[in-house]
Amino acid sequence: MKSYRKELVFNTKKRFELINITDQVEAALRESGIKEGLCLVNAMHITASVFINDHESGLWQDYQDWLEKLAPHAPIAQYRHNLTGEDNGDAHLKRQIMGREVVVAVTDGRLDFGPWEQIFYGEFDGGRRKRVLIKIIGE
Ligand code: ZN
Repeated sequence: MKSYRKELVFNTKKRFELINITDQVEAALRESGIKEGLCLVNAMHITASVFINDHESGLWQDYQDWLEKLAPHAPIAQYRHNLTGEDNGDAHLKRQIMGREVVVAVTDGRLDFGPWEQIFYGEFDGGRRKRVLIKIIGE
């Protein structure tokens, strides 16, 4: 069995940002040379997510509006987590809802997606360096 590991680095300007990383994951799969197996992609930070859905700008805005209703950033004092001196209590909750990782089947050297599926990085506490791990195993 072969395995391949790669980290992607993000440093978003905004606190909240969604980034389509499908091309970068496909590039890692080509680099791996693996034709049949599994591809794991996970956020390496507890205030960011990796998830799969549609690349559609209305939906992206819906995510932001929905998450902001569920866990508004301000007022910062509403979160006990922020009593530690942090201001990202909301970002931990947003990450929990949107998930830590995705696993995609690799078939014939391609990511074996359903219709319209794309992989996204969700940043909820940006403005600093964050990493995403790609791990691919198979033959
Ligand atoms: Zn925190």
